[in-house]
Formats: sequence, structure tokens, C-alpha cells
Amino acid sequence: MALNKVYKLNTGASIPAIGLGTWQAPGEEVYKAVKTAIAAGYRHIDTAFGYGNEAEVGKAIRDALAENNLERKDVFVTTKLWPTFFRPEKVAEGFQISFDRLDIEYIDLFLLHWPCALNPEQGVAIPRKPDGTRDIDTTVTPSITWAAAEKLLDTGKVKAVGVSNYSIPILEDLLKTAKVVPAVNQIELHPYNPQQKLLDYCASKGIHCTAYSPLGSTNSTLLSDETINKIATAHNKSPAQVILSWGWARSSILPKSVNPERVKANTDLVELSAQEIEQINELHKTHGKRFIKPDWGVRVFDEDFE
Ligand code: NDP
Repeated sequence: MALNKVYKLNTGASIPAIGLGTWQAPGEEVYKAVKTAIAAGYRHIDTAFGYGNEAEVGKAIRDALAENNLERKDVFVTTKLWPTFFRPEKVAEGFQISFDRLDIEYIDLFLLHWPCALNPEQGVAIPRKPDGTRDIDTTVTPSITWAAAEKLLDTGKVKAVGVSNYSIPILEDLLKTAKVVPAVNQIELHPYNPQQKLLDYCASKGIHCTAYSPLGSTNSTLLSDETINKIATAHNKSPAQVILSWGWARSSILPKSVNPERVKANTDLVELSAQEIEQINELHKTHGKRFIKPDWGVRVFDEDFE
């Protein structure tokens, strides 16, 4: 069963191959989705300070554990530090906010959400300068923030630390001074943006990759892809199930849904043939697309579609 599959992290812990994504899922909606997911067998939930839903996600996890006779250790929970907390002296404060909001004893994985620091002086959302560009603090490099994140491990409140949206050059730089190798790099991965080079690089350093937007995010054009639809018909599955079957075989994946049927369907995956996998592997050559590319005003991604 797809929900039993795990990947090993460099900490020795296991990360379930399928996790529920919760971005753009507020309040009652996310509360119900997380409860549905855990009742359906999900053992991995992804949230972030930036999603504004950690309190509801945490409550749903606590309630679901009680209702399904599960223990805290049975569910793997990831949250992320927002870049307005990236100055080293703000890292512990940002972590503590997420920790308190989730209220689930400990965090399994804490990620630096983006490889750039936002100036915290204008609030915690997405500060902008008067000209509309984002207010980046370029004096705070990813390595500086990482050194502060490593110290969180000493608190016992978090089991593993990692990064998100880090490219090869940024990781190369970070690893020069890192005492702890990031456990995870959470990145956009799907057939239109497979990032094989980054995946291989991370594997060579012992960094596990988790796929965000594994379906191509909101209003995905990937779901109507002709090749995907042909393969789906052949297996009597939906296009989403084929895309996730491809993704789940190469990394952990975080499909987001607030629809109970889709939450469940997204775990009903199939084994694709080598030929089908090869067909899907080819898609980025003609349909390459990165769906999530906020305008940070600094270079974040090195290449678009490797
Ligand atoms: P996904 O690729 O998971 O796609 C979500 C969209 O697909 C929603 O509109 C959802 O609608 C729809 N959907 C879900 N299942 C199906 C299905 N079976 N058939 C058809 N449509 C479906 O996008 P996300 O961008 O949300 O990425 C997943 C998660 O990854 C996020 O929620 C978040 O946790 C994480 N993430 C992390 C980022 C980072 O910077 N680290 C950036 C982006 C995402 P509905 O809910 O109505 O089912």
C-alpha cells in the first residue's frame, strides 16, 4: 500500500513517501482535510508559518491521533521558517511561533522555506519596498541562517532540519560551513519540472528531496497532458494518480487536496511500466514549466528545467 512506503533521512528517521500538502487551505477546510487524511492512513503532514494554518493543522493532528488511537510518533510533521525570521537572532523566535501554534510536542522536520532573508522590520508577511519589490536583506546569507537553524536541534523540540527551494550553487555554498547536512530539500518536482540534476546532487550529499506541487499546483496544465491521460486510461486511473505514481517512485510527495475523495484517491497509486516512466520523463523537454516562482528580486533557481 502506497501509504506504507517510507524514505530514509540522513538522521536515521523515516519520512513517509506520501504527505498531505496544506498550502492555500485555511481554517475549517484544512482542519477537515488533515483529519480525513490521517483517518485514511496518511502519516505525513506538511505545513508552514507562511500558510497561516499551523494552529488548525496542529489541532487536526491532535484530534486525529486521539480519534484513530495513534501516538504522536505515528505522524511525521513538517513546518517551515518564513524568511522574515532568517536573521540568526530571529530563527529561534520564528521556530517557537510555529512550535506553539502546532502544539504537537515536537516537530519532525523544520525547513528554511526559501533561500533568501526578508527584512523583518516591516512585519512578517511579505515586506515590500516603496517601489513594490520585496525587501530582501542580502547581508543574511543562507549559510548564516543555517548555522542558527542547526542550533535548534539542541532544544530537543525538533528532530531534523532542512531547506526548501535551495539550488545546487546555494547548497554548495551552504555545505562549505554546515556542521549538519540538511536532511531534506523540499522542491518543486513533477513531470514538467523533474529537476533530475538537483535530485542527483542532493542524493550524492545525503539530502532527501521531497516534491512540492507534485500535481503542478493550482489550475495545473499537467492534469490535461495528453500522454498522462493516455497512460491514465490504460490503467483505469485518473491523471493525478498517474502523475503521483511517477513522482512517488523517485521522491516523497506532498499532494494537496481539501476534497475528501481526492485526499483518498491520491494514495491509490500504480506501478508504471519502464516504457511509461520513460514517456513521462520526456515530457519536460517539450512542456517544461516551473509553476511556483515568486519574484524575490534575487536569483533563487539556477536553471529552470534540468
Ligand atoms: P499540488 O500539486 O498538490 O496541487 C494541488 C491542486 O490540485 C489543488 O488545486 C487541488 O484541489 C488539486 N487536486 C488535488 N488532488 C487532485 C486530484 N486527484 N485530481 C484533480 N485535482 C486535484 O499543489 P500545491 O502547490 O498545493 O503543492 C502541494 C504542497 O506542497 C502544498 O500544499 C504545500 O504543502 C507544499 N508546497 C511547498 C512549497 C515550498 O516552497 N516549500 C511551495 C508550494 C507547495 P483540491 O484541494 O480542490 O482537491
